[in-house]
Amino acid sequence: MKVSKFGGSSLADGNQLQRVFDIVASDIDRKIIVVSAPGKRFNDDIKVTDLLLKYAEATINDVNTITIIESIKERYHSIAEYFNLPQESLIDLDEQIAHLSQRHYRSFDYLYAAFAAHGEYLNAQLVAKIFTHLGMPSRFVDPKEIGLLVDNNARSATFDSSSYASIATLDLSTNERLIIPGFFGYTKNGDMATFSRGGSDITGSIMARGLDADLYENFTDVSAIYAVNPKIISNPQSIKQMTYDEMRELSYAGFAVFHDEAIIPAIQGGIRINIKNTNDPSAPGTFIVPPTEVQNTTPVTGIANSNRFAALYLHRYLLNKEVGFTLRILEILKRHNISYEHMPSGIDDLTIIFDKTSLSQQQIDNMLADISAEIKPDTLKWLPSYGIIMIVGEGMRNRIGALTEIVTPLKENGISLQMVNQGASEISIMLGIQPDLADNAVKAIYNNIFKV
Ligand code: ASP
Repeated sequence: MKVSKFGGSSLADGNQLQRVFDIVASDIDRKIIVVSAPGKRFNDDIKVTDLLLKYAEATINDVNTITIIESIKERYHSIAEYFNLPQESLIDLDEQIAHLSQRHYRSFDYLYAAFAAHGEYLNAQLVAKIFTHLGMPSRFVDPKEIGLLVDNNARSATFDSSSYASIATLDLSTNERLIIPGFFGYTKNGDMATFSRGGSDITGSIMARGLDADLYENFTDVSAIYAVNPKIISNPQSIKQMTYDEMRELSYAGFAVFHDEAIIPAIQGGIRINIKNTNDPSAPGTFIVPPTEVQNTTPVTGIANSNRFAALYLHRYLLNKEVGFTLRILEILKRHNISYEHMPSGIDDLTIIFDKTSLSQQQIDNMLADISAEIKPDTLKWLPSYGIIMIVGEGMRNRIGALTEIVTPLKENGISLQMVNQGASEISIMLGIQPDLADNAVKAIYNNIFKV
């Protein structure tokens, strides 16, 4: 049995959904189908999830919601029309969209979460109707029915692993395909809470583990994961297979094809993942597998980079001698509800690297003010934009000379680094760099390592 997850671009319109139908129909093992909300049909298009977030905002601000409701309905109606689905079949979907603004929510966060989750919730209902209409018996399965529980973090929820027991009881013996909305679960109070953006991948992985699937197929719009961002290097090498840990490090540092948290249920269950292209389903795609299954390991599997970071640089003499110094800084971070990503340090210096997408300006200002007052550093600098490059490969474990291959091309191209971190992870080397230099650095490293 396979769990097959289809992303937003694979479900953006009727034409795409027809491809999805053909893919599912061609393999009886594709039993559990996890769907995203309809995504972008063209570059400037708006994802249904973003339309729903606008609808949420309009509801909170008590402004007119008629136009936004119409544009959301239109997305689902145009898909239904493509398949000549009778109009009456959409009445309950329309009602659910309208009803969203009438319901009571525990907080604004839960309101946003419920609106956003409806992108997937409505789409799964629609997909089940269309598949059945096309002659493939299919049933919508609400995550509530399978007990998919999450914690109370409404818009960035964490899955409650006690749910695996109830997921495992899902009846797979009928001839129906089971259509499950991705991206959200329910809290113990019965509220909808979503994973972070792109989180339908997480649902797919949870279902694959909970049902002990033979394979988790993740259908997207690229034929493979590439060794480097194709926007930086044209026609880069594609990755045929990689290990879970390689994928986790690469997706953390910018490979957007697969959500970085989604790998965890698959690792725990030993489930193989296959990233495939809805528009080119015969291409083998990329397999993400346990380390024991990977052959022909090249030293470097992929190079990722992301500029979504910010950093705090702090200098104080004899910092290394002071007991409890780091603890005091971490207490300040905790006080302002800030988590950090990395903390490379020297004898008198410390850099703390943050994911800036999770920080508000208010949090940054408060943290800096408290560090200044309580720690009294000689120098305190805030770098609002900080780039990270991650060179990842199982073949780098204990490899002599790995760093030379990375640093030499940078030297040749006159590119300086702000930080090098080798050691924390055996399979990656992390570089900190000024964001405007990152693309050129990636090019130089890729060309040297992959001998282009
Ligand atoms: N629809 C959600 C988003 O746009 C989740 C997903 O597509 O995976 O983030």
